[in-house]
Formats: sequence, structure tokens, C-alpha cells
Amino acid sequence: MALLTGFEKIVRRDEPLAMHTWFQLGGPAEYFAEPGDADQLIALVRRCGQEEVPVRLLGGGSNILVRDEGVPGMVVRLAAPAFGSIRVEGQSVIAGGGATLGHVITTAVHQGLAGLETLIGIPGTLGGALHGNAGTRGGDIGQWTSQATVISQTGELLQCGRDDLVFEYHQSSLDELVILEAEFQLEEDDPRELARRMQKHWIVKKAAQPMGHQCAGCVFRNPRGASAGELIDEAGLKGTRIGGAVVNDRHANFIVAEPECTSQDVLRLIDLIRSQVHERLDVELERELEIW
Ligand SMILES: Cc1cc2nc3c(=O)[nH]c(=O)nc-3n(C[C@H](O)[C@H](O)[C@H](O)COP(=O)(O)OP(=O)(O)OC[C@H]3O[C@@H](n4cnc5c(N)ncnc54)[C@H](O)[C@@H]3O)c2cc1C
Repeated sequence: MALLTGFEKIVRRDEPLAMHTWFQLGGPAEYFAEPGDADQLIALVRRCGQEEVPVRLLGGGSNILVRDEGVPGMVVRLAAPAFGSIRVEGQSVIAGGGATLGHVITTAVHQGLAGLETLIGIPGTLGGALHGNAGTRGGDIGQWTSQATVISQTGELLQCGRDDLVFEYHQSSLDELVILEAEFQLEEDDPRELARRMQKHWIVKKAAQPMGHQCAGCVFRNPRGASAGELIDEAGLKGTRIGGAVVNDRHANFIVAEPECTSQDVLRLIDLIRSQVHERLDVELERELEIW
């Protein structure tokens, strides 16, 4: 097939996606690619454009639920070392979109560079974190981002400076197909003090989310001035189950997948939560979790 000619070594067909996501649910990707470097990635994106095959970027899969029937088109993962580099230049950290967010944070902390440590414990990659402006009450990744290199849907390499970047609650203007690299302008601090602060954030974070469970991140966005988790709790929905999908007891904005759970169970539970919260509290919850 023309789509695959020249890309046989990096593209697989019918790749199960469950093992690439935190929910560990759902069907396969029609095509799945792990390019070796940016040139190969750009060539693949352009070929998919010519063949009219839709392309999606998969990061750590911590904010995605894949439907049981799987995903048509091409799913790309930046797993090669070329996409995961992290370097420090003065007060800047420059990292690839495929780097693990936790690794970027600990590198900065060890170098005595402050800012990102409040994000410790958020799973996934740098690209995923920038796409959704990952954050906590202590801050978000956008506030430290000074520039980014992206690849557009048509396979063009583009540079975005600070003035081009807009970050809001769990959303960013970085909505191009691929976030290839980003730079963070950080503040000097004592590495030992920073490491202590990072540990404290990690402990608070661990206590607030389900432990040892199969789940993704928060299912719903927090409505202005309110907590989606508290609203779901107030609606009496903690512990509610559909099939193998259960509203978590510790934090009601998480859905946990028990053995035998399907994506359809999770989708039905999401609908149930939304309708019950609307009926009982007159609040319209908006989904945060991406459905593929
Ligand atoms: C236990 C747990 C706790 C969490 N806590 C938090 C929290 O405190 N705060 C928070 O904000 N989130 C939290 N999350 C949600 C999730 O971890 C974040 O949204 C994370 O930043 C997603 O990154 P990812 O690499 O896993 O992205 P994925 O889930 O793989 O993808 C998410 C989106 O990003 C896009 N994307 C991924 N990589 C790239 C790239 N290189 N270029 C362009 N687009 C890309 C995907 O196409 C998709 O649209 C939590 C999740 C879990 C499971």
C-alpha cells in the first residue's frame, strides 16, 4: 500500500492501544508508528496527508480513553530517544515532546532550577502536558514555557515564541499535530530546598489520587469556582459502578477500571455521572478525558 511504502520498519498495523494507555482499555490503532527522528516523522505526516489518512499523537496515554472498536488512521508515538532529549542551558531547560514530564522536572530540580516542581506526580510526556496545559493548584506548565517547536498537520516545522503562546485552565494554543520540543525559562534556587519542595508536592499528590488502580486522569473539568470531584461526591455517586467501571472512593473525579472492564462501561458511567450531577445539582459537567 502506498501509505506504507518506505515506512515498513516504523509502521505496524492493528496495534493494540490498551497497553499504551493508563486505562489499559480499548481496541487497536489501524496504523501505529514510532518514527526514529523528526525527519522521518515529518515525511510520515506528509505521506498521511497525501493519502488522506488522519494522524493522532499519543503521549503517555494518561488522559485518553480508547473506544473498544479502536482508532481508524495513524497513531504516532514519540518513543525514540531522539524525541526524549533534555538539556539545560543557563536558566533554561529544553526538552523533546516525547520526554517524560517527571524526568524533565527532576532534571530541572537537580540543576537548581525552580518552577516545574509543583507538577511532580503528573504522569505522561512533555508533549501531552503542553497540549493540555497540565497543572495543579500550585501552577501549570504554560507559565514557564518560553518557546516551542511544532509540526503542523501538513508536515511543516514551525517555531512558536512566548508571544504566540496562550495557556489557560487545561488548554493551550499549542494545538498543532506534534509538539516536538519546548523551552522553559526557570528561576535559580537551592537544589536541596527544591528537592524537598518537590517531595512535599509528590506526597500531597499521591494522597489525592487513586493508588494502584487502573485509571486515567480527572474525567471532568472543574467548573468555575468549584471542584468536579466534590460535586460528584455531593451527588452521592462515589462507588457507583457500571460493569467494571467504578467511581473512585478516594477522589470522585477518577473512574477506576476493574478486571473485565470495557471502554463502553467507562463511557456509560461518564454519561450517568453527567446526567445525575445535572439532575441533582443543576451543574453541567464538561469532560476533560479525551475519547479516541
Ligand atoms: C493518576 C493521574 C493523575 C493525574 N493528575 C493530573 C494533574 O494533577 N494535573 C493535570 O493537568 N493532569 C493530570 N493527569 C492527566 C494527564 O496525566 C495529563 O493530562 C498529561 O499531561 C497527559 O500527558 P500524556 O503524555 O499522557 O498525554 P496523552 O494522554 O497521551 O494525550 C493527551 C493529549 O495530548 C496530545 N499529545 C500528546 N503528546 C503530544 C505531542 N508530542 N504533540 C502534540 N500533542 C500531543 C494527544 O494527542 C492528546 O490530545 C493525571 C492522570 C493520571 C492518570
